Amino acid sequence: MSDWLKQTIGRLQPLETAVNRAWWQAAVTGSAEEYARLETLRNQYDELFRDPRLTEQLETAAAAPSEDPVRARAIELLRLAALPRQVDRLLTERMNRLATEIERDFATYRPSFEGGEASKNDLEEILARGTDGARLRAAWEALKTDGPLVAPRLRELVELRNEAARTVGHQDFWHMKLAMDEQEPSAIGALFDRLEALTREPFQLVKEEIDERLAERLGIAPGDLQPWHYQNPFFQETPAVFGVDLDTQYEEVDILDAARRFFRGVGLPVEEILGRSSLYEAPGKDPHAFCTNIDREGDIRILLNLRPTERWMGTTLHELGHAVYDAGIDPSLPWILRQAAHTVTTEAIAMLFGRLSRSADWMAGMGIVDPATADELRGPASRELRANMLVFSRWAQVMTRFERGLYADPGQDLDELWWSLVERYQLVARPDRPREAADWATKIHVVMAPVYYHNYLLGECFASQLDAGLRSEVLGGEPVWCGNPGVGEWFTERVFRPGARWHYDELARQATGSAVAPEAFAEQFLAEVSP
Ligand SMILES: [Zn+2]
Repeated sequence: MSDWLKQTIGRLQPLETAVNRAWWQAAVTGSAEEYARLETLRNQYDELFRDPRLTEQLETAAAAPSEDPVRARAIELLRLAALPRQVDRLLTERMNRLATEIERDFATYRPSFEGGEASKNDLEEILARGTDGARLRAAWEALKTDGPLVAPRLRELVELRNEAARTVGHQDFWHMKLAMDEQEPSAIGALFDRLEALTREPFQLVKEEIDERLAERLGIAPGDLQPWHYQNPFFQETPAVFGVDLDTQYEEVDILDAARRFFRGVGLPVEEILGRSSLYEAPGKDPHAFCTNIDREGDIRILLNLRPTERWMGTTLHELGHAVYDAGIDPSLPWILRQAAHTVTTEAIAMLFGRLSRSADWMAGMGIVDPATADELRGPASRELRANMLVFSRWAQVMTRFERGLYADPGQDLDELWWSLVERYQLVARPDRPREAADWATKIHVVMAPVYYHNYLLGECFASQLDAGLRSEVLGGEPVWCGNPGVGEWFTERVFRPGARWHYDELARQATGSAVAPEAFAEQFLAEVSP
């Protein structure tokens, strides 16, 4: 590639590395100067794509695709990256400002509760553990009080996003975002319809079981259950009613040591990655977790805030899943292709590794529990995992269908749209709510990661396809990954090495024989698990 394409990549690569370094510094320190530096660098990076000469070169090249498939793919990826950046600069700035403003309000808002103020973490804690109905209701309602606060600006942001999408030839933002992600609206719609039909009955049954157990715990009739009884502000995961408490098993576990041993055992060593990472809580540090590939030349890091709990074991495995994917990409590919094929594929890998912390077989394989405890845990843990997958899949239906409706018609009665979807897909009763309660506006993804949620469910589907493939081709039908270097080899060859060489459905076909589809997910999670 000795031409404009090479030069373009030569300009993008150092700037993207600088953006990633600044992002890392900002996340680790929380310093306002670092965040300001990050914003400046991001704007410079966006500016590179606004070069009208580049736009012309990309369009000319796309009209007469290269015979060289690597070059054609590189041009396609650049064209997709350039698409949202062709929106007018002033409009982009307005959208960014509004999104940042709403994000800050979300981050700093302190709901009033029981005569004082409470943090969202405190309220979620009450929801998760409480049994007093009135107090649960008060905590749930307090968690929804930022809805009306942000809703008018969020509507405005949605209108601006639609306006931006129309200036680059799409009917609304939902359609533009899918185009950027190489997703066909009708195919995504069909896949969600198929998943909906597959999960409807199994979910209904599991929901009845959850309701019975919850009602008994709360001392009420199942018919009287309200949204605040589900231990989570959105019922996006299963309530803890299956008698599995894994945190006690992880109290004494050195999470990093377990992760190091596990990944070394499957032939995907993580020592170097952990050596560059930020692992423990610190003042000002981002409280979440993520993985970043700084330079696509081997500098891969994860950010964690480790505590000895099952959740952090799962999160560590999840983030290291992203990391070993990045580390396994063919280094001889051009820089633009040295990335995961798609959000769907990297989330699938991360979720597949992240699921292990709840697997009795994995815990036994790692020496976290003895074989007898593993035998006791196996049944309840797999029933809980299954319930969790069903609950999550129905919640993802709500989010995906809500966002589609939101961008199609932002002026409609969004409270009505939200609650009718919750009733229909999650089978949760609609409570009495004040007019314009805007419960939909309290889910931060709608602001920060718009039209993204569907990828999580596609990721779960692909994860199940990979799980089935690995099991039959490498594990001889057994669910035990620990200490088998064939696991790492299989993932590297099938998924990691090609990077972004192909569309993710093509990658899935080559890795598992089928495009991303719900059948393997159904096979793995929809059948009953005997108690
Ligand atoms: Zn992830």
